[in-house]
Amino acid sequence: MSSPQEDFNLHNIAKAQFDKAVPFTTKLEGWRGLAEWLFQPERIIKVTLPVEMDDGYVHTFTGFRVLHDTSRGPGKGGFRFHPSVAEDEVKALATWMTWKCALVDVPFGGAKGGVRCDPTTISWREKRRITRRYIAALGDNIGPHTDIPAPDLYTDAQTMAWVYDTYSMLHPGKNNLAVVTGKPLDLGGSEGREAATASGLLLVIEHMIAVGALPPLNGLSGVTVAIQGFGNVGGHCARLFHNAGAVVVAVSDRHGGVYDPNGLDVTRLGAHLAETGSVVHFPGTESLAVGEVLEAPCDLLVPAAIETQITAENAPRIQAAVVVEGANGPTTPGADEILRDRGITVVPDILANTGGVVVSYFEWVQNLANKSWPAAEVGRLLEEKMRCATDVVLATRAGLLDGFARYQEAWTAVRENDPPLPPPTLRTAAHVAALERCRRATESRGIWP
Ligand code: NAD
Repeated sequence: MSSPQEDFNLHNIAKAQFDKAVPFTTKLEGWRGLAEWLFQPERIIKVTLPVEMDDGYVHTFTGFRVLHDTSRGPGKGGFRFHPSVAEDEVKALATWMTWKCALVDVPFGGAKGGVRCDPTTISWREKRRITRRYIAALGDNIGPHTDIPAPDLYTDAQTMAWVYDTYSMLHPGKNNLAVVTGKPLDLGGSEGREAATASGLLLVIEHMIAVGALPPLNGLSGVTVAIQGFGNVGGHCARLFHNAGAVVVAVSDRHGGVYDPNGLDVTRLGAHLAETGSVVHFPGTESLAVGEVLEAPCDLLVPAAIETQITAENAPRIQAAVVVEGANGPTTPGADEILRDRGITVVPDILANTGGVVVSYFEWVQNLANKSWPAAEVGRLLEEKMRCATDVVLATRAGLLDGFARYQEAWTAVRENDPPLPPPTLRTAAHVAALERCRRATESRGIWP
């Protein structure tokens, strides 16, 4: 799938995206050093975890928690169970969390964590022991006002309940609910959190269509959608796009995919997944190999599985008019350029998948106030946040395009031997808007001491 010259290191990808944005920030020359500080993570924790497996064998796992930036508030970000978990991956994911929190204007910085393991082969009880040992090992490096975890790949509300319980056992006598978000409703979770990432993604797309920012789409009725990943983000996206009048023609999971040009019955597909453990072999559909879903004929493509799936190798074959990033980092910088040159709009992860952190913020506020808000209130506030963030990105890009000649001139003056500045994409605009917010917060606080 990869192209030999492409760099798939996620932290290098995050840096390449950041570097594209820096020349478009207002103080290119004045704050070079500050830009370096804003990119580097503040803290990297690596833990080694002995965990007794069901057969009595003691397996040693490696876990990470990275706190990227706290200029706007405590760290916030999910943790995952996946074989690819590594320091650079977690650093990149924490960095993107900083930009996301800034973009949707919630008072958090970025953080992320993970334990390297194969979640498809470990039992429920083993998962619980890994979670408990990981959270205990992190100790007071997480907390309601320091760093607040949430679900991500192969972690869910149940995992978050174990996080809360572990932390609470170690910190008795306090209201500890705000230490983690994405919890079950019975344990301080928020209405709307489970589907929040997909709900937010749909709200971004609906708003962009409404303001004419996603030509050729002028509504969702009859729009064909292909989705890679059928977990929390992908599964809810399929249901919500279907309910909004779109036609979900292809979906996939880690085993493979299914395609039906007339549209998949999303509810029956969910039942098939629950019964068989996969979407593959859903009756009446054409089978797709893993990865083929990305190239399926459709108007709108939602990568909602893992990183670096749309690459310089397969980007030329993408048929969608719009790519909406449900996953974090699904598109490589090489693919970004190809899609841009082909006129395919990419709605970037740091805008499109922020619904989860927005409702996590609502959950945190409810927990601190010992209150619970009705679903309608959560939905209304989410819509407000997603629309506002989308408007900020669109306005930022319009401003950058207006002043493009000026930015180019400033760039050429200091980088005369470098390639010319490329025109800003939505990803670059989203980074610029987020970076400016972090810069302003850092500058108002002043550099300690
Ligand atoms: P999940 O574990 O619920 O689902 C993951 C899905 O991806 C599953 O269907 C799995 O089979 C599929 N998958 C795994 N490896 C694959 C592969 N190699 N090829 C194709 N499909 C594969 O995870 P999720 O919470 O839905 O997260 C998906 C993505 O969305 C991740 O990038 C995550 O970081 C991002 N994200 C999640 C949230 C959230 O609230 N859960 C928020 C923002 C971003």
